[in-house]
Amino acid sequence: EYINIAELFNYILDRFDMIIANDDKPEKYYTIKRMIPKLQIWVEIDTSKFTQVIDNIMNNAIKYSPDGGVITARLEDRDSEVVLSITDQGLGIPKANMKQIFDRFFRVDKARSRAQGGTGLGLAISKEIIERFGGRVWVESTEGEGSTFSIALPYEPYDELDDEWDDGAWDEEE
Ligand code: ATP
Ligand code: MG
Repeated sequence: EYINIAELFNYILDRFDMIIANDDKPEKYYTIKRMIPKLQIWVEIDTSKFTQVIDNIMNNAIKYSPDGGVITARLEDRDSEVVLSITDQGLGIPKANMKQIFDRFFRVDKARSRAQGGTGLGLAISKEIIERFGGRVWVESTEGEGSTFSIALPYEPYDELDDEWDDGAWDEEE
């Protein structure tokens, strides 16, 4: 299915804003800052699977950040590729573990992570989903400062001229 990626990204983030707005005493406070232009970019991806990926990255950003963190959500059009990123002000990831966090069951500092709950599958599944739709996922991070998780997804730029020609009653190849 083709989805409007900016619209769906905003819709998923709305739910995270609602959770914090409707909870009198949330376990953790956070603020979401959005840098998402209203672009009409249609990406071929499954809505529920994409939601699962963003849910996991957002939940990680909250789980591995202290209270009062700002989470920045960005969307950028890079011609035939759309890049979404989520930046937190959390614990960060040690350089040695940056690749491993995408492996099944891998968790940084098992003792610390155990208290947070989780299986260590979230990012492995996210990577599988994004790659199945022709995309890439990666992380940039500084320990003690925070992390940025990015997702690049390919799309075919919509061409109005092509569309006009397609409306013609005949096709040259026939
Ligand atoms: P699950 O997602 O299955 O509930 P999980 O969150 O531990 O469990 P992943 O989402 O795969 O598993 O993340 C793997 C590990 O990467 C985490 O345990 C954590 O150590 C580290 N990690 C992930 N996101 C962040 C983040 N935003 N900041 C710091 N560390 C992170
Ligand atoms: Mg997770």
